Amino acid sequence: MTASTFDLATLIRAIPDFPQPGILFRDITPLLADPQGLNAVIDRFATACDALAPDLILGIESRGFIFGTPLAARLGIGFIPARKPGKLPAATYSAEYALEYGTDRLELHQDAIAPGQRVLIIDDLIATGGTAAAVAQLVEQSGGTLAGFGFVIELAGLGGCAKLPDVPIVSLLRYD
Ligand code: AMP
Repeated sequence: MTASTFDLATLIRAIPDFPQPGILFRDITPLLADPQGLNAVIDRFATACDALAPDLILGIESRGFIFGTPLAARLGIGFIPARKPGKLPAATYSAEYALEYGTDRLELHQDAIAPGQRVLIIDDLIATGGTAAAVAQLVEQSGGTLAGFGFVIELAGLGGCAKLPDVPIVSLLRYD
């Protein structure tokens, strides 16, 4: 089977009540363990995102790093991380956001983005959209231009994409 016909959904495992009751956790570890599946994700992101002409891929800690770094290498551009508090050593911008479960904060190095650089934000999954919207704010605060967003999984029923700025959104899989 070629990367373009590979059924990614067969490699996503649904775990009820993790990490807390009421959450149906979409587990990507079977996808990561499968060489065809992993290759198909990077192929599909590269095909869909090339036209967005990004200068940088921004990966959201930590599962955004897993997909963002090989995508950046495939597109021949650099990778920058948005990290949990206290991990980045130089001066940072910081944004707080609400999760489907709890709240959190992410940081970006102040010098990670040169003025006007086009930044594509990558994460494994969009749920309520709070995480990706906070990172979009960090990109704007840094003087970058948002090229778009890429998610392996979109939980469409939670409406997270409506919280994002009006730029292209690439979702490889959608669940209601
Ligand atoms: P949100 O800010 O609500 O869009 O949450 C997105 C982030 O939380 C992503 O980094 C996901 O990895 C994680 N996440 C939220 N909900 C789930 C879920 N149901 N299954 C797996 N990961 C999730």
